[in-house]
Amino acid sequence: AKAKGRNTFHFYSQELDEAANERLYIENELRLAIRDNQFTLHYQPQVDYRNNEVVGYEALIRWEHPERGPIPPTKFIPIAEATGLIVELGEWVLEAACRFSVKLQKQGKVGNMSINLSARQFKDSNMKRVLSDVLARTNMPPKLLHLELTESMLMGDVEAAISQLHQIKALGVSLSIDDFGTGYSSLSYLKRFPVDILKVDRSFVKDIPEDPNDMEITAAIIAMAQKLNLEVVAEGVETKEQVDFLANNNCYVVQGYYYSPPIPEQSVEVFKVQ
Ligand code: C2E
Ligand code: CA
Ligand code: CA
Ligand code: CA
Repeated sequence: AKAKGRNTFHFYSQELDEAANERLYIENELRLAIRDNQFTLHYQPQVDYRNNEVVGYEALIRWEHPERGPIPPTKFIPIAEATGLIVELGEWVLEAACRFSVKLQKQGKVGNMSINLSARQFKDSNMKRVLSDVLARTNMPPKLLHLELTESMLMGDVEAAISQLHQIKALGVSLSIDDFGTGYSSLSYLKRFPVDILKVDRSFVKDIPEDPNDMEITAAIIAMAQKLNLEVVAEGVETKEQVDFLANNNCYVVQGYYYSPPIPEQSVEVFKVQ
């Protein structure tokens, strides 16, 4: 039993080593990737069910590593966040997304652009200056820029978060709560956050219509958003049944594979809702 215990320990520590090495590898490669411009943005359309019109896009970062190929954001964003590299990377995302939005606007297309902010960026004391610089540099109309934040970023020092939200909003941009329902912000806080949009998390949508609980929760979140005068966007919508359910419950703006996966710029410029 002793030997087995030692082997188990050895096994785990080796796994930890591998995880640590992988993290270190990604961290180093991230620095090179920022230097060498290995990132692109893909854009996922948000569609209004009622008229099949695109009402905006969410920018999602993509990393094509020269040897490894695509590395998903769920893998490298947390490392970029932990090392602080996200601040530089996030500024690049912001600028690239605004530039593309302005390009779309010049083509007479919808320019609403959502981008994801990380906790580190949100708390960064330079955030406001970076934002206003990018808006000015790119000629982006502030109200077309939607910044997505998660509940967990707003908890902790709630008063500081509310003050930061007000300062960012003063620039004229819109604010969304991403992955809504998965964090633990209480409803009383939600009322105090100066946000404009709630994004219903995919975890509630994905088992509609099989899971009656998820249907209840989704309907309740939509109803609550409306009571609070918030716009609501459903994410991760994959099927006709889901779109119909959402629309029947007064959520008309949806994002998900049902309409389109995230797509590169050239595809956005010719995108049509099927
Ligand atoms: P998120 O902000 O919740 O983005 C939605 C994710 O769901 C995206 O994954 C998108 O490709 C995926 N998705 C969209 N529709 C569907 C669907 O119908 N079904 C399924 N199964 N998935 C769908 P992605 O692009 O891999 O991004 C993952 C996460 O990485 C994002 O989650 C966001 O938290 C983070 N992320 C991505 N880009 C950025 C960025 O530029 N900055 C920051 N800070 N985070 C980012
Ligand atoms: Ca998002
Ligand atoms: Ca989300
Ligand atoms: Ca479920």
